[in-house]
Amino acid sequence: MKNRFFHPKKNLIEELNNLFEFEKKKWNLLRENLEALKKSPSREIEVKNFKFKLSLNERRKKNITKDISQKSLSKNKCVLCPQNLPEEEKGIIFLKDYLLLVNPYPILNHHFVASSIKHKPQLILPHTKFLFTLFEKISKKFFLIYNGPKCGASQPDHFHLQFCDIKELEVSKIYSREKFKEGIGVNSIYPIPHIYIKCKSIEEIMEDFLKIFKKISNSFREEEPPLNLILFELKGHFYLLLFLRKKHRPSFFYEEGDKKILISPGAIDLSGTFITPDEKHFKRVNGEILEEIISQVVYEKKFLEKFL
Ligand SMILES: [Zn+2]
Repeated sequence: MKNRFFHPKKNLIEELNNLFEFEKKKWNLLRENLEALKKSPSREIEVKNFKFKLSLNERRKKNITKDISQKSLSKNKCVLCPQNLPEEEKGIIFLKDYLLLVNPYPILNHHFVASSIKHKPQLILPHTKFLFTLFEKISKKFFLIYNGPKCGASQPDHFHLQFCDIKELEVSKIYSREKFKEGIGVNSIYPIPHIYIKCKSIEEIMEDFLKIFKKISNSFREEEPPLNLILFELKGHFYLLLFLRKKHRPSFFYEEGDKKILISPGAIDLSGTFITPDEKHFKRVNGEILEEIISQVVYEKKFLEKFL
């Protein structure tokens, strides 16, 4: 790889696989973090007949506890601006304005970040064309996620998405097991309520997304409604899941001593794999606590149904 940032020549999934393998060989930090991820323990926690995964990932502590206040962000260098990326980081240029990068602090296998080349705010609407074009190109292997600026994004002032290996998407088990009608609906079978869109084509799913996004936006004062998105393909259908957030972090996050649990849910947690960086907290969480965390951070079924 002569150029640090390059245009894809072949199939994008193939290029991403090559990039991942290349970086794994050359980049010590990534290799060490991948090794640690492989060894890190995880356990199952059942909530309302669904088995969530809880993973212990000590190397994510910085991301999970990051101070995302404006004051702190303007003081520190933006980690996603190309000039600040680590030397080892290579990237695929996509649709001219975006870079596809390997995440050196992975939560799941084949964890990538897709970010705008320019320093632009974390808002999804100006980037919908990019979101759905990328989705169409990589959905056979990856699921995509978007975290709103106060909903789990660790760099909330620079636009980015993430994508990971589709095999690690826990929530898709519900969509594989149960029958959901095509179109827009609310899923309350999964213990974390959300709005879903199920369509046969990318055009339809984008259209439905813009429709529902507009409706929701009208009810919130913020520039963007507080949300997390998960996009994936399953058995010939495209899915978009939209979680609306009441809160960025649950009360447990701010407790001290025995009550403290460092879980700061973003889209990956909501997709079925919760992460904590602390071994004591990893042991402490049970179904009841997880249910409480969920009810504190996402809106319930009744609220979501208002937007259908
Ligand atoms: Zn930046």
